[in-house]
Amino acid sequence: MARTVLVTGGNRGIGLAIAQAFAAQGDRVAVTHRGSAVPDGLFGVKCDITDSAAVDAAFTEVEKELGPVEVVVANAGITDDTLLLRMSDEQFERVVDTNLTGAFRVAKRASSKMLRAKWGRIIFISSVVGLYGGPGQVNYAASKAGLVGMARSITRELGTRNITANVVAPGFIETEMTAVLPDARKAEIIKAVPAGRLASVDEVAAAVTFLAGDSAAYISGAVLPVDGGLGMGH
Ligand code: NDP
Repeated sequence: MARTVLVTGGNRGIGLAIAQAFAAQGDRVAVTHRGSAVPDGLFGVKCDITDSAAVDAAFTEVEKELGPVEVVVANAGITDDTLLLRMSDEQFERVVDTNLTGAFRVAKRASSKMLRAKWGRIIFISSVVGLYGGPGQVNYAASKAGLVGMARSITRELGTRNITANVVAPGFIETEMTAVLPDARKAEIIKAVPAGRLASVDEVAAAVTFLAGDSAAYISGAVLPVDGGLGMGH
């Protein structure tokens, strides 16, 4: 059955691969962007997820065009790495406001319509770093770990209404976010990953479409790693 799907930050990177995977299976797919072009076949809405009013307006626009959002993927995220002692309050707060509070804004706005429909799928894109930690990533890891508590609390609140909330925790994926890593750091990461490579964006998208499907109805509050074995034991 075709669903209405909204992917934040679906204009590029992992979010775009997720959006395209849903579109390929016949869903109606909207993506948020902050002014960039959006590929054909996807419905683009402008939205900065640090702004609750913008999130509300984006959902309203999607609802008008494609119907109520049944599957929401909170994917938009940023890094702003530096060591703890050098990290400013502003650097910490900006990353948390985007990655964690942004996901909250999106999940909250989506859930009212999901409750009415008595069906919904909320998927948060976290990171292996959320539970594994990362040097220079106190802000990022804290924001990504917070998504786990959020998904599990939503699961406890909305579980009886056929609404699931899950976390996908990618390892290191080939995108613009990892393109900025120095080669030596990249080589170090690859050495630590049992699979011995980075992942493709499509490998993350496959986990997301699985969790959004009818066959995943009994999976909620879960953390699904797509990390080549890097974070085993989470
Ligand atoms: P990119 O840097 O390639 O893309 C980030 C996306 O987030 C863009 O679409 C960007 O929009 C959007 N975004 C950032 N800030 C905001 C904001 N305030 N409001 C709305 N949209 C915003 O990242 P990736 O595709 O690599 O990452 C996607 C998600 O996956 C992130 O949450 C990231 O933390 C996570 N992740 C990535 C990994 C990796 O190895 N790449 C590993 C683990 C997790 P715009 O185009 O307007 O800038």
